[in-house]
Amino acid sequence: MGNRNIVTNSFDFIVIGGGSGGIAAARRAAGHGARTALIESGRIGGTCVNVGCVPKKVMWHAAHIAETLADASGYGFDIRRENFSWHTLKQRRDAYIERLNGIYDRNLDLSGVTRFNGHGRLLDERSVAVDDKTLRAERILISTGGRPTVPPVAGAELGITSDGFFELESLPRRVLVVGAGYIATELAGVLHSLGAEVTMLLRKESLLRTFDNSLRETVMEEMQKSGVNILTHFSIAEVSREDESIAVTAVDGMRISGFDCLLWAIGRHPNTAGLDLHKAGVATDDAGYISTDEFQDTNVDGIHAVGDVTGRIALTPVAIAAGRRLADRLFGGIAQARLDYENVPSVVFSHPPIGTVGVTEEAACDRYGHENVKVYQSRFTNLYYGVTDRRSPSVVKLVTVGEDERIVGCHVVGDAADEMIQGFAVALKMGARKADFDNTVAIHPTAAEELVTLR
Ligand code: FAD
Ligand code: NDP
Repeated sequence: MGNRNIVTNSFDFIVIGGGSGGIAAARRAAGHGARTALIESGRIGGTCVNVGCVPKKVMWHAAHIAETLADASGYGFDIRRENFSWHTLKQRRDAYIERLNGIYDRNLDLSGVTRFNGHGRLLDERSVAVDDKTLRAERILISTGGRPTVPPVAGAELGITSDGFFELESLPRRVLVVGAGYIATELAGVLHSLGAEVTMLLRKESLLRTFDNSLRETVMEEMQKSGVNILTHFSIAEVSREDESIAVTAVDGMRISGFDCLLWAIGRHPNTAGLDLHKAGVATDDAGYISTDEFQDTNVDGIHAVGDVTGRIALTPVAIAAGRRLADRLFGGIAQARLDYENVPSVVFSHPPIGTVGVTEEAACDRYGHENVKVYQSRFTNLYYGVTDRRSPSVVKLVTVGEDERIVGCHVVGDAADEMIQGFAVALKMGARKADFDNTVAIHPTAAEELVTLR
């Protein structure tokens, strides 16, 4: 009684972490007949559902509506933008997410996955403790995701992270967003469109530095043009409270103040604390991510990892795809099932949005030699802006390689880029050439047609 060493639950597969990757792997494994347990310490669905993609996209839609309302007069509508209620938006968003939590719970039940609520930690290569229970399985999956990074500077606790953003009960008036990646760009855009005064602090010269130059330059210029204040080469030394507001001081002594909200968006790090990886001997890399091979196997036989905790491409569909393929391989008899991490498309829900797949022009030149790379690009204004006072540009770009002009990069920024890129990603994955794009009849009038009419 009460002896931790007594095996109380025996499974084929134990999944630690009920986010995108864990749920996908658990349900697929159970579908193959594996007796599967899933351990989740927080809200089911993980980052994406609760504090990531889903609530973020709701906020992006809200921002889009604000922009559309501002454009409406050009279309003859006399609409004044008044009385926006953050409170209503948050209430409805939270209610939607609660419904999703319920759907995820039910789907796990329907799939026959056994749920454990609590913190999972390894006891050895084959057993996991969750609260006072010990579970055993031949296979264990670690899919514990990540959490926002807060820098080790004095006063950092005065700021919030993306998790805190989703708890805000009202729209902050003056916001300082620190960071230059996906989250900084997306949340700064949302806050600005909904009416906050936004300053972004970049420690280097540009937003989204790893993206193709056509994308990062367009988004940065557009954000600045719309009124977001972007300060570059600002490395924070200290955060302090000044009367009722927040002030930050740079390492070079520059000081800015008067903010009522500071949002850290400087990256994320893996959730491995308290997992007792050492008890099973699971290795991590220098940044603390769990090291995995191309089959999502760790260095320990029978222990696997997928998703953000592995430090691969940190996107929900990547975690899901890796999890499902792993389950197919372990329990579905598909010996070579694994995720190919090449040509993963992604979208930044910025203003305007970005859709991108493949390599940047810079990376193509490095990889294939400048002389072998040919780039096609077009910049245009979407027809939508023909009658509005506001104008927002679109840019499409194809990066091709070799005599047969194989497309290795497809980059789009502008309205509808977010919905456009998925289909083009299929073409890239199939090895499309520029001639294939040329042979495809355009759909008119759309922004997407620009990609098949490039000269
Ligand atoms: P997670 O979804 O983080 O799930 C891990 C789960 O493990 C969590 O529920 C956690 O509570 C649980 N856990 C941790 N430790 C333990 C433990 N010891 N025991 C039990 N449970 C544990 N991706 C996109 O593709 N598109 C987007 O638009 C997008 N927007 C984003 C916006 C924001 C603000 C953020 C933060 C992320 C966004 N992402 C987006 C990234 C996406 O959310 C992640 O890549 C994805 O959730 C990773 O899935 P995962 O399964 O690896 O981890
Ligand atoms: P990112 O890795 O996208 O960006 C973080 C950026 O912050 C870095 O690139 C870096 O830019 C900057 N930075 C790092 N450290 C510091 C520091 N100490 N001070 C100031 N700036 C710093 O991380 P995010 O947190 O934005 O997002 C995490 C991941 O989640 C993303 O990589 C993405 O995979 C996923 N995500 C996906 C979304 C989507 O699909 N739409 C949306 C949101 C998140 P620099 O080096 O230029 O300074």
